[in-house]
Amino acid sequence: MSKKKSATRILNNPSRSFRIFTFGCQMNENDSEKISGMLKALGYVEEMDVNKAGLVILNTCSVRENADERVFGNIGSYKTVKKKNPDLILAVCGCMMQQPEIVNQIVTKYPQVDLVFGTHNLHQFPELLNNYLVNGNRLVEVWDDSDTIVEDLPVDRKYPFKGFVTIMNGCNNFCTYCIVPYTRGREVSRQPDKIIEEVKALVADGCVEITLLGQNVNSYGNDLGEAVNFAALLRDLNTIDKLMRIRFMTSHPKDLTDAVIDAIAACDNVCNYIHLPIQSGSSRVLKAMNRKYSQEDILDRVSAIRKKIPGVAITTDIIVGFPGETEADFLETLKVIELCQFDSAFTFLYSIRSGTPAATMADQIADSVKHERINRCLEVLHQISHDINQSYQDQVVQVLVEETSRNNPERLTGRTRTGKVVNFAGDPEDIGTELMVRITQAKTFSLDGEKIRQEDNNGTAHPDDDPIPATS
Ligand code: SF4
Repeated sequence: MSKKKSATRILNNPSRSFRIFTFGCQMNENDSEKISGMLKALGYVEEMDVNKAGLVILNTCSVRENADERVFGNIGSYKTVKKKNPDLILAVCGCMMQQPEIVNQIVTKYPQVDLVFGTHNLHQFPELLNNYLVNGNRLVEVWDDSDTIVEDLPVDRKYPFKGFVTIMNGCNNFCTYCIVPYTRGREVSRQPDKIIEEVKALVADGCVEITLLGQNVNSYGNDLGEAVNFAALLRDLNTIDKLMRIRFMTSHPKDLTDAVIDAIAACDNVCNYIHLPIQSGSSRVLKAMNRKYSQEDILDRVSAIRKKIPGVAITTDIIVGFPGETEADFLETLKVIELCQFDSAFTFLYSIRSGTPAATMADQIADSVKHERINRCLEVLHQISHDINQSYQDQVVQVLVEETSRNNPERLTGRTRTGKVVNFAGDPEDIGTELMVRITQAKTFSLDGEKIRQEDNNGTAHPDDDPIPATS
């Protein structure tokens, strides 16, 4: 069967169906929502069964090397899927496609892939798809970089009441373990009026919560002149009527200024929650990681946050076993975790990411040592999470109800303004609304609660009252 023939069949397929698989972070999730939005605008519908879908898109992530292997395994499996569903178009996009050697590998070894595009030319997808459908020839189109962000792409949001808003793309930091600056390019910020316009449109469409996205939101606006910065953006967004929750990620500790902390503290609608990835507590390791801050800087920023933002929750990322990390360095990390009292943390074993400076550093740490350290790290983190969550026991908290619980369809799940997961019995009609919930059981990773009727509230809880978690 020729490609041309296959393309004609797809064109005649009245269902025009697609399935997207997303790997990696929220930036990728947001990109997938845009791909889905563009396809739905073309009349395509979602089809969960890949054996029936007309188009499958794999939106890839390149942060971890073993994620690459998973993606290649996944692409490999489409050889069989295409035997059952020969008209299927397979498209691959995302950060992995920004690496020429990966694209090369796909071109030479994976004939089942029909379309390849990158993060910088995502907006071209409808055009590329159309070209493929007309010509039936495999298409590979990846831009190296881009100094603009294409506005006004349609977005198909997963949740009607909350949405992601990308405020900038790229990163200028070149942490020695990270591939992102090579795949997402240099920082490019969106104009503030475009962001505000998008958020207002989301609110008009029923969104009550937005999450601002960027690799390093604290350096938002550095490329747009002095008047534009993240603190000012938060203050502007805070004035938007009916927008109840503003979240953001990710904050680089070196760029978390007092002005940003003051803005979070002053803005009622900005949630009292900060994800602050420290990666290590050892100044020596932080230097080798090129993070451009020290242990003292971490402690200083966390103390400023706690002083100014009542009831704040702080979460973090920790990499264990970075090349050259000694037992003494690791103990510094444990010390900083104890001092900062993080609500929770994403912990990672350092893994070699080829193409980054750390991949060729001497003193790579043995896996057994990494595993032993991460277990000790988790023990400390879990105890802190448990203790902080205990401070929520019997408190009344404000919960934005997100969905029915995955484990029990009779129960709902939502989040406090501090990002804690709360499970409770409720009515699916409550999804998308904010409710007052009394915490009946505080667990290490989540809270159980019961919805309280307004008349039972007795004025003891204020909508802004999240309990103040334990602090150092
Ligand atoms: S700040 Fe560092 S870890 Fe984060 S995206 Fe940039 S280079 Fe990667």
